[in-house]
Amino acid sequence: MFAALYADGRLLDSDGETESVTVELNSDGDTAWRCRACGEDVTETAEGYATETDELVCWAYEPPADALPGPDFGDGPHDPERIPLSWCNAAGISVDPCADSVTVSLSVGDPRGAFTFTLSRIADDAPGDLAGRIVLHVPYPGEPLPHMPLAAVRPGTYLVGGQIGAQSRPTAARCAA
Ligand SMILES: [Zn+2]
Repeated sequence: MFAALYADGRLLDSDGETESVTVELNSDGDTAWRCRACGEDVTETAEGYATETDELVCWAYEPPADALPGPDFGDGPHDPERIPLSWCNAAGISVDPCADSVTVSLSVGDPRGAFTFTLSRIADDAPGDLAGRIVLHVPYPGEPLPHMPLAAVRPGTYLVGGQIGAQSRPTAARCAA
């Protein structure tokens, strides 16, 4: 096997035998929120959203034009927004010539683990009808020791973590074609 390694479409130096590639995200911590006004990373506290230095007051705060009497410019709370991809720890691909398999892994919970999606070819001399065939293994609801619990929304779409309530059943994803 000869493996070429590309990043953003550019060929990277490799020994031609690369068997695993990982993109790590959020290696600087697990901040999930950022202030729209001042741009600082913020975390939720009992008193409100605070910066790393426990600052609850946003220097860039601007009262809304139609505001009732409230905090003045630079004296209000941070305006938190979710940081894109802050829910993902890492994404990786590994190939295993011995197992004749390719595995894609995506970590969204405990960074030591990941959801894995594996395509493998069953050995030609294996017993049964699947000998020589390619099979796909995917995470599923009720899986023992899951990376995160899954609940089926519809075939092929799962809610990650928690249960689906009758009213909170998700609609199509924002970017769905
Ligand atoms: Zn702010």
